[in-house]
Amino acid sequence: LLPLLFHWLGAKPRESGAKLRVGICSAGLGQEEYRLMISRSGISLEAGSREGLVRGASTLRQLAISGGSHLPLCEIDDGPRFSWRGFMLDTARNWFPVEFVERLIDAASLHKLNIFHWHFCDDQAWSIDLPGLPELAREGSFRLDRRYNEPVKRGGAYSAEDVRRIVGFAAERGIVVVPELEAPGHATALLASHPELSCVAAALRASPAGGAGGQSAARFEPEDSYGVFADVLCAGNDAAFALLERIVDGLVELFPGPYIHVGGDEVPKARWKECPACAARMRELGLSPGEEEALQPWFMGKMAAMLAKRGKRMIGWDEVLDPASDDDSARKLGGLPPDAVVMSWRGYEGGIVGARLGHDVVMCPYQAGCYLDYKQFDSPEEPGRPTVSTARDSYAFEPAPPGLAPELSARFIGGQANLWSEFMYSARQVEYMAFPRLCAISEALWSPDGSRDFEDFSRRLPSQLQRLDALGIRNYYKGPLC
Ligand SMILES: [Zn+2]
Repeated sequence: LLPLLFHWLGAKPRESGAKLRVGICSAGLGQEEYRLMISRSGISLEAGSREGLVRGASTLRQLAISGGSHLPLCEIDDGPRFSWRGFMLDTARNWFPVEFVERLIDAASLHKLNIFHWHFCDDQAWSIDLPGLPELAREGSFRLDRRYNEPVKRGGAYSAEDVRRIVGFAAERGIVVVPELEAPGHATALLASHPELSCVAAALRASPAGGAGGQSAARFEPEDSYGVFADVLCAGNDAAFALLERIVDGLVELFPGPYIHVGGDEVPKARWKECPACAARMRELGLSPGEEEALQPWFMGKMAAMLAKRGKRMIGWDEVLDPASDDDSARKLGGLPPDAVVMSWRGYEGGIVGARLGHDVVMCPYQAGCYLDYKQFDSPEEPGRPTVSTARDSYAFEPAPPGLAPELSARFIGGQANLWSEFMYSARQVEYMAFPRLCAISEALWSPDGSRDFEDFSRRLPSQLQRLDALGIRNYYKGPLC
């Protein structure tokens, strides 16, 4: 940590007269809490863990950027309200350079965020070149953008080396990287390299004219439009699970953190309804035709088992709780292990159901200021999706719904901001959409309950933006905050 700290302070140890004391001290300090003292004789920073030291060092960095060559004398006892303070970047809809991903992580760490949720695959791209599975990125990392007379190839893939570099960069700054393997839906880019794992291919194999050669008629390419697509992984094909096992192995190799996100959102069942292999699977599981919805919890249960076998903890979008909580027959087929984390995006309901079922919950409801691809201001000229979500909305984001019993409330471990990139074609656009709303959300996730004051935040914002400038992030939104 020390070289990084010296780098952040812009000082070399021997040139400065003051003493710097940095140390881990277990007495009474929680996981990320720290105690910082700046006096005339020097700086003392102590914490109960390395993470705590990084958070304290981030405060020092903030003071150093804002104070120029002077640090204010102060005593700070500080710690976060929530343990999951995340941001998600979608590198599947559009791809961003490694240097930019690092710059974003750096800014996130300055704001004491601690999770980078990496949405690396979707219908439009598979953006990580996983060891041992070169076909996934080869066939899946570029899409043809057909908005022009001459279609343009768009996309890109991070090499294993790039991923290690990003994960290491994040770890140094106290940020855990959580990769998201989308399954069984949002899988078109995966089907581009493995069309045989689609239900269309299963139907061709089963048809009299099909056979082994027939399945080559099932072809996919990464989508160049956005939405929810019918073709998902075939739940009746054991080869799909065999491939997912190998993918999980690749992720385990690259991502040392405790979590793997398995998607689970927006899975249409149309193909499963028509597929002979899925029908056979349903018979095997004792399901009747028409009960295709129940295949999904079974599918997610298989994913959960894959992760558990490798010592990883599963996270999924709140659809992993579907069908609704009162329908236990479906959940009996597999469902979620007790330690699975539910990420609630469709609203607060998924989080509340997840907490009632005993799961830890991470909140990012799209209506609550967490979706940073929405317009920041109500004007037709403002970029972003047509819904408006202002910095004030982000600042007001409350991860734990009020009025719950304390044991349920405790299940809400935090929240995150999501940077979906359908309409962000370049790093500069991501900067514009991310800031200052990410500053606002980071405060919502860190500050003690009931202590937030938007007017106060607005007054302090110029100095926060000045720090972003110092990090090389200059294209942030500069319009009205609400
Ligand atoms: Zn199928």
